[in-house]
Amino acid sequence: MLTSAAPKARSYDVAVAGGGVIGLSTAFAALSSGRRVVVIEPDATKSAAWVAAGMLAPASEAHFGEEALTRLLLAGAARWPDFASALEGAAGETFGFRTTPTVAVGVDAADRSEVRRLVDLQQSLGIEVSTLDRASLRAQEPLLAGSLLEAALFRGDHQVDNRALLGALRSAVVSLGGFFIDDVVCSVSASGAIGKIETAQNGSVEAIDVVVALGARTSQLPGITGADLPIVRPVKGHVLRLRGAEPLIDVTVRALVHGRSVYLVPRADGRLVVGATSEERGFDTTVTAGEVHQLLDDARIVLPGLDELELEEAIAGLRPGTTSNAPVIQRIDDGPVIVATGHFRNGILLAPITAEIVMALLSGTSTTALDLLAAAQGS
Ligand SMILES: Cc1cc2nc3c(=O)[nH]c(=O)nc-3n(C[C@H](O)[C@H](O)[C@H](O)COP(=O)(O)OP(=O)(O)OC[C@H]3O[C@@H](n4cnc5c(N)ncnc54)[C@H](O)[C@@H]3O)c2cc1C
Repeated sequence: MLTSAAPKARSYDVAVAGGGVIGLSTAFAALSSGRRVVVIEPDATKSAAWVAAGMLAPASEAHFGEEALTRLLLAGAARWPDFASALEGAAGETFGFRTTPTVAVGVDAADRSEVRRLVDLQQSLGIEVSTLDRASLRAQEPLLAGSLLEAALFRGDHQVDNRALLGALRSAVVSLGGFFIDDVVCSVSASGAIGKIETAQNGSVEAIDVVVALGARTSQLPGITGADLPIVRPVKGHVLRLRGAEPLIDVTVRALVHGRSVYLVPRADGRLVVGATSEERGFDTTVTAGEVHQLLDDARIVLPGLDELELEEAIAGLRPGTTSNAPVIQRIDDGPVIVATGHFRNGILLAPITAEIVMALLSGTSTTALDLLAAAQGS
């Protein structure tokens, strides 16, 4: 990844704590608006965004009780094409943004009926879903298990290569004149109207606005701890990366396998991302044999040819979850510190709309996205 180290003495308009997908997208937007920006991040391969599958899936992520959040996800997805083309222009590199669709399948009768219930919910929210019978599914994806009887097809659920995305965002930040400090943020505070970040090794950084985007670790940070904000907790997820000479499937597949969820996200180069577990285990990111075994077992029921692929990587990361499952994007006490976190299962999808909301908070303007966010937080 490209890096442009920050000079010793410099004043910034915006200092961003955390260079995961939310911090970097915010930095990209702030730089695009002409602001002077620094990002403080020790190692982005520790981010949830590095682990994630990269699905941009507002429809197939719709859940009962999360209707308002689904509206925010749909608005987030609508921002992606413009965001992708602006980012590609600034970064000078592509990042695997693909508009291939998603299918949802159920393995047994109970799974199929659950998929149908979700389709009803999605249709009630105005989401376009069509149904594929067994023959159409086989014609479209001949390598999926022949025992799958039907599928729901979501044309609006897409994907991006999340790791390439992080690389492109970093390149864009550098090419637009932003800076990076490879360090750990120890605290944030307000010094009058100015925001202040204390780092572990590089002293303090001051800026007109500080954006805190530490993902699952946000609530641990002094200056955020004790603020009147929803608590963000880590929700562990295992993901596997497999590799073949060419893609086995063209579309993303989300499956219910005897009540358990598994998804398979094909990359254009033959890689296949399989995920994800959902575990409440604090900050533990140990990869455990049992979870890897279960994911592989469920995935190969849906796509038997997966047995022939090379298992490249098993990794676990921490989703930043709130009690409402909606993100927290707001100023603290009308001061210079803005928090942008809590994106849970959808931080990649919501990165562009989050950057838009943070820009509105920076400039004191309004955006309809803020209303969608408020509704999602209330659901
Ligand atoms: C298994 C799994 C699968 C997922 N799949 C998807 C998906 O398909 N689609 C989707 O939209 N979302 C997905 N997500 C969710 C998505 O990854 C997150 O919502 C998103 O990454 C949150 O972005 P963030 O920038 O807030 O946090 P992160 O991406 O975690 O980034 C936070 C950054 O802060 C840095 N940091 C932490 N503490 C400090 C500190 N003290 N000082 C400086 N820096 C610090 C970290 O190093 C990290 O780089 C998935 C997540 C997981 C775990």
